[in-house]
Amino acid sequence: MANGIHYRIGASRPGAHVFEVSCRVEEPDPAGQRFTLPAWIPGSYLVRDYARHVLSFAAFAGEEEVVVRKLDKATWRCAPCAGPLTVRYEVYAFDMSVRGAYIDTARGFFNGVCVFVAVDGRENQAVTVDIEAPEGADDDWRVATTMTPEGADAWGFGRYAAADYDELIDHPVEMGCFDVVEYDAAGVQHCVVLCGRHHANRDRLATDLARICDEHVAMFGELPHMQGYMFLTRVLGEGYGGLEHRSSSALVCRRDELPDDSDKVSKPYRRFLGLASHEYFHLWNVKRIKPAVFTPYKLDAESHTELLWVFEGITSYYDDLALVRSGVIDASSYFSLVSDTIARVLSVPGFRSQSLADSSFDAWTKFYKPTETSPNAVVSYYAKGAMAALALDIVIRERSDDEFSLDDVMRAMWQTYGRTGQGVPEDGFEELCCSVTGLDLTPFFNRAIRGTGDLEIEARLAALGIKLAPDPRERPRSALGFKLKKGTTHVGTVFNGGAAEAAGLSAGDELVALDGLKVSPDGWRPLVRHYTPGDTATLHAFRRDELMAFEVTFDLAPSRRWKLVADEEAPTASVARREAWLLSSTLR
Ligand code: ZN
Repeated sequence: MANGIHYRIGASRPGAHVFEVSCRVEEPDPAGQRFTLPAWIPGSYLVRDYARHVLSFAAFAGEEEVVVRKLDKATWRCAPCAGPLTVRYEVYAFDMSVRGAYIDTARGFFNGVCVFVAVDGRENQAVTVDIEAPEGADDDWRVATTMTPEGADAWGFGRYAAADYDELIDHPVEMGCFDVVEYDAAGVQHCVVLCGRHHANRDRLATDLARICDEHVAMFGELPHMQGYMFLTRVLGEGYGGLEHRSSSALVCRRDELPDDSDKVSKPYRRFLGLASHEYFHLWNVKRIKPAVFTPYKLDAESHTELLWVFEGITSYYDDLALVRSGVIDASSYFSLVSDTIARVLSVPGFRSQSLADSSFDAWTKFYKPTETSPNAVVSYYAKGAMAALALDIVIRERSDDEFSLDDVMRAMWQTYGRTGQGVPEDGFEELCCSVTGLDLTPFFNRAIRGTGDLEIEARLAALGIKLAPDPRERPRSALGFKLKKGTTHVGTVFNGGAAEAAGLSAGDELVALDGLKVSPDGWRPLVRHYTPGDTATLHAFRRDELMAFEVTFDLAPSRRWKLVADEEAPTASVARREAWLLSSTLR
């Protein structure tokens, strides 16, 4: 073991969802070697305490067992001993999400944070890993990972290597029987690994993803250095999710989101393309252009930054924009994606309560730990961040007389922070926005990012020759200002300032009857349809086990659907601006 730290991962009982892992350290700390597992995974800002899935932990120096003491929830310390020291432990792996580890008799997947302990004090040292086939695995099981092979054949079990712990945990590993769709982008081999049963049209997938990847590469000017890229895609009946890594991403999608043989882009397929586009954009924005507080990552506890909206919101803006710029979808399809984002923000009152800076900073304890009142108190730094990015892009275009755009700022972010590996200071994005464009954008940041001011999206879109209006197909609806918990008659959230709040309803109340008619989970909407705004009614509900009656007055429901349409009568300058905005980066 030339480089001193060597891991091995296998599974003798895959059916019990257990990985067996060992870590051998040639020269352990003479004061007693410590090992830790991360509390969170970069890209998902919640403390997950991965160490809680460790089932057993033992240490050996040669054949001799070494005493191990646990120091806290995620740290083990071995008694001082002469090397080499080997720790062996089992990890329960039954988390199908992109943030976890999973093994059964048909497939396996892991993120390094779930299974590989860090050797304290040696995080910067190179490591090797033997990935072994689980017991009973069929001969056609393969391995998909962008970790560097060191003896392992392509797609094979065997030895892999990483330059340090950070690299080790940034290459998730998929194992089992899977399909591979290959294509080239920026002269680098890209693969979509499809695990799970599917009927996807592979050529179509390769063609569309290549165009989207080319668009992102052209926008930034280059693909970061890498040997190859993989979308590790788990195909399920239900599910959705993605997590970015330095040269791969883990995706979960529904079977019907993969393309069929038609040449139309269905809504489900558009959603999949948007997800893949999002994770790919992260190759630049958050994997390499990162907040200073993540440089390096401190994975034992929360790391707070006001910039998550830059990394997730701006990425959410460009993920869909790349679909239209690359020509995979048309402008009207893109406009409906923008209107969905606007509706997602404006239909939840939290956008009036929390700023994007605060939403970013408190993501750990608010966005990722929702309560009954979260819709009132919390705004998504993804959706509103995307809307703010759109507004900022238009402001820059308009005020610089179309000399600059957000694209120029993102390219400068790549040159200044991404290529250099220097972390983005908390005021770094705003400063670059101002210096690149020569504009004073502080008032915009005060209002849109640090404040909860109106983004004036309707006026902004007008500057692109686009009209925004409530969808005329939406009929006025009456509402009581609360949301039921899915599939139940229990009140999930009472919206601030609405009719339910005025009448005294509370989250948790179990609705029983409206004007004497029984309430059911599916029957609530049809029941309410007969009331118009201003009507009154008696609503019966149980609060815990006590029956209560409420006199309610119906409100007009806020509009939930918006429509964006190209305004053919817009001034020529606005139309030209719109065309420049939607133009492929490959043609600039
Ligand atoms: Zn993201």
